Amino acid sequence: MSIHIPFDNSYARLDERFFTKMNPTAVKAPSLIALNAPLAADLGLDADALTTPDGIAALAGNLVPDGAAPLAQVYAGHQFGGWSPRLGDGRAILLGEVVSPDGQRFDIQLKGSGPTPYSRMGDGRAWVGPVLREYIVSEAMHALGVPTTRALAAVSTGDIVLRENPLPGAILTRVASSHIRVGTFQYFASQKDTEALAALTDHALARHDPDAQGVLGLLDGVIQRQAKLIAQWMGFGFVHGVMNTDNMTVSGETIDYGPCAFLDSYHPMQVFSSIDQQGRYAYGRQPDMAMWNLAQLATSLLPLIDEVETAQASLDRFPELFRAAWIETFRAKIGLQTPTEGDGALIEDLLTRMAQGQADFTNTFRALGTDKARAEFVDPALYDAWDITWRERLAKENTTPEDRLKDLHHTNPALIARTHRIEQAIEAAVAGDFAPFERLSKALRNPFSDPGEMADLARPPTEDEVVAQTFCGT
Ligand code: AMP
Ligand code: MG
Repeated sequence: MSIHIPFDNSYARLDERFFTKMNPTAVKAPSLIALNAPLAADLGLDADALTTPDGIAALAGNLVPDGAAPLAQVYAGHQFGGWSPRLGDGRAILLGEVVSPDGQRFDIQLKGSGPTPYSRMGDGRAWVGPVLREYIVSEAMHALGVPTTRALAAVSTGDIVLRENPLPGAILTRVASSHIRVGTFQYFASQKDTEALAALTDHALARHDPDAQGVLGLLDGVIQRQAKLIAQWMGFGFVHGVMNTDNMTVSGETIDYGPCAFLDSYHPMQVFSSIDQQGRYAYGRQPDMAMWNLAQLATSLLPLIDEVETAQASLDRFPELFRAAWIETFRAKIGLQTPTEGDGALIEDLLTRMAQGQADFTNTFRALGTDKARAEFVDPALYDAWDITWRERLAKENTTPEDRLKDLHHTNPALIARTHRIEQAIEAAVAGDFAPFERLSKALRNPFSDPGEMADLARPPTEDEVVAQTFCGT
C-alpha cells in the first residue's frame, strides 16, 4: 500500500467497553475536494501521497491504511438538557492516532463514514454542506488562534445522501488532540463502571494533563481550558449553537461545527440554530452553559473523588476563571494593556451601545477610533459618547497610537467566517463550483490582515443575504 501513516493507537488499546471496532463503509466514487497540506505537514504526513488514488481512497474510507485501528467511540450526553444514555460515533470512525514530529498526539477521524452501532435512526453519512462548513469554520477558528479540531481533508463520495432533498455525499477528515468528551465520562458514570471511568481518566490525563495529579487535576485542567476557550469564542462573536455535553471536549478544543455562526450585528441573546427554540445556547449564555456542562463532568467523576467538596470547589472557580479570561480578551480588543479598575464597565458599556446601535461585532472592533466604527451604529452618537470615555482611558496607557493600532489589528480580525458567505460557498459547491469555497478558505487563513481584494468577505450580509437560521445539517 503506497499510503503510509505512522499510527500509534492509544485509544484502541483501551478495551471493548470504550468502542466498537469496525471499518468505514466504502463509497462509490471518491474524489478530493480539499486537502490541508500545511496541516498534513504539521502531522508529519505526506500531503502528496494523500492526493494519490490510494490516499483519496483512505480519506473516503475505501481503503484502511496499514496500522490503522478503525473504531467508533461510545459516549452519552445531555442534549439541550435532556439525557441521552447512549450516543457515540453514529457517523464517524476513528482511524487511529499519530504523533506529530513535534511530539503531539492527534486523532485522525473520518466523519460521514457510514453507519455504526451508534447510528440510531441516522444513515451515518454527511452531505457536502456540513462538511464544507466544518472545514471552513474549524480552519478559520484555528487561524484566529482558537483551540479547535482541524480539517485535514474533504472528499466527495459520489453517493447521494437523502435529507429533505437528495444531496451529494461527502466525508471530512477531522484531526483532534482527542475526541474525549464530557459525554464520554458521563457514559461510564451512568453505567456505574468505575473501573472504566478510572481508565478513561488515566487516558485523558496522559493526553491532556500529563503533569497533573489524578482526577482532580484533570477536572481542574478541563475547567481552565474551557474558561479560556469560551472567553475566546465570546471575543470573536462565535456562537457554537449546540453546546451539548457530547460536544464539549476535555482537551479544550472547539468541536462539532453544526449550527454554529459568528455574529454579524451584535446582540447578547443572538441564537441561530433552528432547533434551539429556547435560546439555551444563545451567545451570552455560553459561559453559563459551559458551567452546566462542567458540573456534569464533575458529577461523573465523583465515584473517583473522595470528597465531594473538593470537586465543588474546583467547579466554583469556573465563573472567576472565565471572568478573568473574558476581561483579558476584551481589554485587548479595545487596545488596553494595563489592567485598571473600571475596564470591565468600559467594555460592557461599549457592548450595550453596540446592541442598541445594531453594530456589526467584528467590524466595530476592527475599526475602533475611526469613522468606520461610528458608522456601524444606527445612531452614531451611541458610539461617540463611548469614544470620549475610551480616549480618556487610553491616555493612561503607555503605547503610541501607531503601536496601539497595530495591536488592535492583531487582536480584532478583519475577516470571520460569515454565515451568508459559507452558505454561498456551499450552494456553489452543490452545483459543482468549488471556487467560492476555495476563495473563502484562503481568505480566512489570514484573518488579521487587511483583506484587500477579499474586502467583500468582510461585509455583513445585505438584507437579501441574511441567513436567519442555521441547521445541524446531519
Ligand atoms: P451532533 O448533533 O452532531 O452532535 O450529533 C449527535 C449524535 O447524533 C451523535 O451521536 C452523532 O453521531 C449522531 N448523528 C448525527 N448525524 C447522524 C447521521 N447522519 N447518522 C448517524 N448518526 C448521526
Ligand atoms: Mg456531536
